[in-house]
Amino acid sequence: MSSKLLNIDWHARARDVAIPRQAFIDGSYVDALSGATFDCISPVDGRVLGAVASCQVEDVDRAVVSARKAFDDGRWSQQSPAARKKVLMRFADLIRSHAEELALLETLDVGKPITHSLRVDIPAAARCIAWYAEAVDKLYDEIAPTGPGALAMITREPIGVVGAIVPWNFPLIMASWKLGPALAAGNSVVLKPSEKSPLTAIRVAALALEAGLPDGVLNVLPGFGDPAGKALALHADVDCIAFTGSTVTGKRMLEYAGQSNMKRVWLECGGKSPNIVMADCPDLDRAASAAASAIFFNQGEMCSAGSRLLVQESIRDELLDKVLAIARKLEPGDPLDPATTLGALVDDLQMRRVLGYIDSGRLEGAVVRTGGAQTRQETGGFYVQPTIFDRVSGNMKIAREEIFGPVLATLTFKDAAEAVRLGNDVIYGLAAAVWTRDITAAHRMARSLRAGMVYVNCYDADDITVPFGGFKQSGSGRDKSLHAFDKYTELKTTWVDLS
Ligand code: NAD
Repeated sequence: MSSKLLNIDWHARARDVAIPRQAFIDGSYVDALSGATFDCISPVDGRVLGAVASCQVEDVDRAVVSARKAFDDGRWSQQSPAARKKVLMRFADLIRSHAEELALLETLDVGKPITHSLRVDIPAAARCIAWYAEAVDKLYDEIAPTGPGALAMITREPIGVVGAIVPWNFPLIMASWKLGPALAAGNSVVLKPSEKSPLTAIRVAALALEAGLPDGVLNVLPGFGDPAGKALALHADVDCIAFTGSTVTGKRMLEYAGQSNMKRVWLECGGKSPNIVMADCPDLDRAASAAASAIFFNQGEMCSAGSRLLVQESIRDELLDKVLAIARKLEPGDPLDPATTLGALVDDLQMRRVLGYIDSGRLEGAVVRTGGAQTRQETGGFYVQPTIFDRVSGNMKIAREEIFGPVLATLTFKDAAEAVRLGNDVIYGLAAAVWTRDITAAHRMARSLRAGMVYVNCYDADDITVPFGGFKQSGSGRDKSLHAFDKYTELKTTWVDLS
């Protein structure tokens, strides 16, 4: 850890930092028309950070009108890709130069360790915006091989007004996965951050404006799912909803699109990903360390968390002992202390949900090998110990449902076929991993696992160049990589008769 980071008094900064509170519509910060606000509570210590604008149906309408006008008059959509690239590169630079402020807001808002906000979240968000900016003036369209009598051009156009609805676990990263490709492609965006984590989204709107993004092209609406998110997803002048969040809410997005204008709906939803360790795993220490970070990084609040550890029977005790040893050293700490690696859960509700799953695991007969309780109650914040369950069977709730907290379910299997069957036996299909020395088995299992991302001898390998997203009820469409442009563009065929 750099000494600069260690020397910052984050508590002192937290006392002074300006809390962004207003919506950002048509290039200005404004209150909700109704004057409604909600309390933004820090899970670090349970204190109220500020009263944030709670946008209602009429605010959504104002933002969509502004975004539509900006799109239709071409102030952004008709700029050359090279010009858009310049603005977005400046936007990424401004995110980087405000990294300490943004990291502090992220940590105060969701309770993740300041070191992670500063080292992971904010740089990844900036890199994402910059990557799509860099890409957009390097994409070519197509001419179809129709023969000499015609010219059939296949071109991509921005889709129009994009409604982006995002969750709280990686607030700025999730927002930037939408903003990067949507803005680079020339769309206008109305972004609704989670009511649990509105701060960085509100703050970066001003940075986008400073970078040269024209008024109306990016609007940010803090507020609750219902009414703000619902009104956005039902709005007849929104062309596309790019959603990240739970599967339950994702299904609502499909209904809203059906009830309104059949807008495009792209869903990045939940997961219950299997991390499968075969007896011939090449390195059990590495597998154990990856298994621990797959479930404990970001307090387990990760859609792609390796929340089910599937171990071949003969190595169960050896592997589990190694994972337990790592987990027992991981105590939740003060998120504002740079030495902390495990922070708070996002709020009281999420903590109770996680504790409820721990109770249900016990009741169904699984065995808690470490953790299993709330901790740091004296802080007023919301902390849960890293928890590992053993003796879990595939029909238990903790083996089937997404917990979204630091709770690992360990199951065993006899052979590869059973591992794949168990791995696929949930409604989700986001990620999966296989640890084996046998390259043929690895490929066969990777093909059989119904997941958008399969890791072999690693977990959560990550790069902006590769698609992220799931099969089954983990969603549709992909964030990241050039494939993300598919979500934010319409394909047009223009046929010119040359005969
Ligand atoms: P959530 O579904 O409760 O909320 C997500 C967003 O939807 C929030 O902005 C919320 O305000 C909004 N919303 C809620 N109800 C709505 C409604 N009726 N209409 C419109 N908008 C509504 O999810 P969450 O608790 O914020 O996030 C956790 C979930 O996100 C987990 O299931 C996790 O797996 C998933 N997630 C998925 C990915 C991925 O890439 N697949 C990434 C991160 C998180």
